[in-house]
Amino acid sequence: MAEGQFGNCKGCRYFANQNPQSASETHRCMQPELSEFELEVSGESGCNAYEARASVGTPVYEEPSPSMH
Ligand code: SF4
Repeated sequence: MAEGQFGNCKGCRYFANQNPQSASETHRCMQPELSEFELEVSGESGCNAYEARASVGTPVYEEPSPSMH
């Protein structure tokens, strides 16, 4: 996998919902090399396969929300 820059799913072209209403929404990651894992990611998740959507400018990294256990 190419090493891209890190960014949040909510601004990523591979996030299944291209117009999330809330950063906490979860949707599929459609990144070609990750889609086989059928990942459900929240808008606040992220990874280094991030690619900005055309409509999104420079990504601003935000800490993921603490998960509830
Ligand atoms: S997991 Fe990575 S590739 Fe998939 S939507 Fe989030 S930032 Fe994009």
